[in-house]
Amino acid sequence: MKFEHVPEHILEMYEKIRSQHFPHLANAKILFLLNKKKMINKGNITLSKIVKPSDLVKFLSKDEAPEYGYDYIILLDQKLIAHCDDTDIKRVLRHELRHTFFDSDSLKNPYKLVDHDFSDFYDEVELNKDDPTWSKRVSQTVSLMYDQEKDEK
Ligand SMILES: [Zn+2]
Repeated sequence: MKFEHVPEHILEMYEKIRSQHFPHLANAKILFLLNKKKMINKGNITLSKIVKPSDLVKFLSKDEAPEYGYDYIILLDQKLIAHCDDTDIKRVLRHELRHTFFDSDSLKNPYKLVDHDFSDFYDEVELNKDDPTWSKRVSQTVSLMYDQEKDEK
C-alpha cells in the first residue's frame, strides 16, 4: 500500500497547532495520510501536500467523516514523520494548514485552498525566523533517506 494512517501523536500535534493558529478549522474534517512514496514536484522533493478530496472520495469517506466526508486530505512523507524532529514536522503541518481558507460566503463548500504568498507564507516566516532555511534542510534529510534506501536494494 502506498498510504498509511498517521501515528496518533501527529493528530495530537495537529490539534494543538489548530487551536493555536487556525481557529477557522475547528469544524474541518481533515484526513492525514502517510505517503510511502517520494513526492516530486518540478524535480524537487515535496514533504507534504494538501488537497481537496474529489466528490467521489468525499462520498466514500462520509461514514468516517459525517456528513459530507473530509474537507481536506494532507499527505505527509513517511520518512519526514519517521526521521525528522517534531519541530520540523510542526513547520510542515503549519505550512500546509496555511493553504486552507474558510469562505463564509460559500455555505455548501466553505473550505477552500489558497496559494502561497511566495514559496511560504508571511506568517510562517515570522514563526520560523530562528531557522529560515529549515525547508531546504529537511528536504535534504528526507531526500538522503530515499537515496540510502535505493542503495540498500
Ligand atoms: Zn505550500
